[in-house]
Amino acid sequence: MRRAARVVGMLGAIIASMAFVVPDAGTSIVVGNQRVIAVLISFGPRPFARASVTAAMAEANTFVTRSSFGRVSLQTTTTPWIDGGAVSPSCAASSERIFAPLRAVAAGAGYQTSPYDRVFYIVAGPDCGFHGIEFGNEVFIVREPDARLIIHELGHTFGLPHAGASAVCGTWCVTQEQGDLYSPMGIGFTDFSAYEKEQLGWIPRQPRVARTGNYLVYPSNLRSIGRQALVIEAPEGEYWLEQRPGRAAPGMIVRLVNPETTSRSFIAPSTLLLAPIKTGHPVITPGQTFRVPGEFSVKVARATKTPMRLNVSLSATLR
Ligand SMILES: [Zn+2]
Repeated sequence: MRRAARVVGMLGAIIASMAFVVPDAGTSIVVGNQRVIAVLISFGPRPFARASVTAAMAEANTFVTRSSFGRVSLQTTTTPWIDGGAVSPSCAASSERIFAPLRAVAAGAGYQTSPYDRVFYIVAGPDCGFHGIEFGNEVFIVREPDARLIIHELGHTFGLPHAGASAVCGTWCVTQEQGDLYSPMGIGFTDFSAYEKEQLGWIPRQPRVARTGNYLVYPSNLRSIGRQALVIEAPEGEYWLEQRPGRAAPGMIVRLVNPETTSRSFIAPSTLLLAPIKTGHPVITPGQTFRVPGEFSVKVARATKTPMRLNVSLSATLR
């Protein structure tokens, strides 16, 4: 069980974070049917309908089922609104003090949460200044959840950290912690990254480049799950090259992962390069070449259709 709590803001603001208690580093395989219950608890207002939560959960299931190639599905239950009483939970309390009274409210209304793999408490009333907190397999959400927020919080319960982005990478990256344009663990809602999918066990280990040559990378919506990314291992980390998701025309995006930054609760975060060649252009288009001086270069072959063909040239130090 993961013992970390995260506070989530849609703009990536981390307002608070809580204690790490139990070491639980390592793999983050998540496959199979996940039983998820959304418990609606009101401390006064009921600002949105149960049906809209049910619909958002269904959309989240569609997203996860597609992204995982059917390896994960969500079996979702949404309770009716339950009256939480007069005293709403303190947003500043410890995780245990937030979740214990919510569990009691659910149980008092006849909803046992223990059989569920993930529990979302969707709470109306408290004004917290953030959207949600994840702690182990429990999530506390204080606004109307859309599918993107559900997927994002679910990702945390799967062991995924925020997907970052950086415009500048020198000796180290200056990172926007939640800046990834494509991953739902960043600000995107297109698809989980190949790196995230490999860690979750949704696709097999992707090819690591050991020699100079031509390589094919398939779009993430095809079932060619063995070649959805190309990984170049360099001293500063792993470069994950993949097809920009959601588009048919070839275009390469690059993320950098330093495996040594795995935490007790989450896999190592990835950083999308926002300016791999020039400012304002995160996508490397056919004919362009991405270079890491002294290490490697990758040219995207001129073509109008995927799969993307990459010509990789490794320096002597990486061979
Ligand atoms: Zn988050």
